[in-house]
Amino acid sequence: MTKNPLDYVRPNILALAPYSTARDEFKGGDISVWLDANESPYDNGVNRYPDPHQHQLKQHIAELKGVRPEQIFVGGAGSDEAIDLVYRIFCRPGEDNVVAIAPSYGVYSVAAAINDVEYRGVQLRSDFSLPVNRLLKAADPRTKVIWICSPNNPTANAFPRADIARLAEAFDGIVVVDEAYIDFSERGSMLDVLDSYPNVIVLQTFSKAWGLASLRLGMAFACEDVAALFSKVKYPYNVNGSTQLKVIEHIAGDDIAEHVAEIIRERDALAAMLRELPFVSEVFPSDANFLLVKVAGPDEVYDYLVENGVIVRNRSRLLACEGCLRVTVGTPQENARVISLLKEYSGNNLQTS
Ligand SMILES: *Cc1c(COP(=O)(O)O)cnc(C)c1O
Repeated sequence: MTKNPLDYVRPNILALAPYSTARDEFKGGDISVWLDANESPYDNGVNRYPDPHQHQLKQHIAELKGVRPEQIFVGGAGSDEAIDLVYRIFCRPGEDNVVAIAPSYGVYSVAAAINDVEYRGVQLRSDFSLPVNRLLKAADPRTKVIWICSPNNPTANAFPRADIARLAEAFDGIVVVDEAYIDFSERGSMLDVLDSYPNVIVLQTFSKAWGLASLRLGMAFACEDVAALFSKVKYPYNVNGSTQLKVIEHIAGDDIAEHVAEIIRERDALAAMLRELPFVSEVFPSDANFLLVKVAGPDEVYDYLVENGVIVRNRSRLLACEGCLRVTVGTPQENARVISLLKEYSGNNLQTS
C-alpha cells in the first residue's frame, strides 16, 4: 500500500497560506534597481536579502546527493531546524505523540517537549539492534512520527536498511531517518528509497563529514509533497546568504573522501588500541566518526582527560550506556595523544591500587 504522507499533516498546516516575501513576488527579469524589499541601497556585500528558496544551493545538493531539487529542504540552524519542523508539520500539540529509539540524539525529545508532544522512547536491544516490532507496538493512532538515527548517536551503529524499510512499510505515519553520520558507514543511505516510501524523511547535515559545523547547514530529503510543506512552514529567509555561498563553494571545491577515509582508518586503529587498555571493558563497533567506550570509573577517566586538556563526552549516566564515554575521532596526532594519556592513566592506577 502506498501511503499518502499528507494524511498525517496537521490540518492547520495543510490549510496554511505561507508568508510571501518581496523576492517571492519577483518573477525574474533584467532588474538593475531593487526597490522592493526596503533594503539599504549601499552595497557592502551583504545589504540584499538572500534567495529565500535557496535555488542554486539546492541545485548543487541535488547533484551531490542524486535527488531532485524539489525533494530538498535546507535549514540554516542545522538539522535541529528540520527536527523542529517535523513536529510543527505533523504533530498536534497536546494530542499527538512520537516514538523514538533510545538511547539516541537528545534534540528529538527536547523538540518534542517544546512542541508539547508526548515522546515515547523505546530501548534498543542489548546489542543495540533495532527493535522493529516493539517500536510498532509503542505506536497508536496518535503516533505521527517514528525517529530513527542511523548511524545512531551515541551507540555508533547503523541499522540494516531492510529493518528501516520494514518499519516504513508497517507504520501508518512518518519515519524520520537521521543520517548525520552516514558518510562514515558502509550501510547505504535511505535516500534512494524516497520515491518508493513517501512516508520517509531523511535528515543529513554538512556539520560532520563535510567539516562545516560552523555554517549550520542541515538538510531534509523527502517526497516533493513533504518537502513543499517544509518550505511552507520554515522562516522565510532561513539560510543566510554567506552560508548559501560558502556551502556551494565547498560542494564545488572539496573532496571529502580522503578525510572520511582517514577518519575511518583512525577510528578502527583507535578502537583496537582502546581495547588493549585494562580499564576498557568494551569498545562498541562504530559506523560513525566516534567511539562509544565502556570503562571502569568513567568519571575518573573523564576528569583525568580534562585535566590534561582533552575533552570527550561523558555518557555514563545514560540508560544502556552505563560506564560509557563517547570519543570523537580526531587527527592522527590527537588520537595518539588520547592513547598516550590513557596509557599513562592506566599506569598510574596500577601503581596506586
Ligand atoms: C551532530 C548531529 C546532527 C547534526 O546537527 P547539526 O545541527 O546539523 O549540526 C544531527 N543528528 C545527530 C544525531 C547528530 O549527532
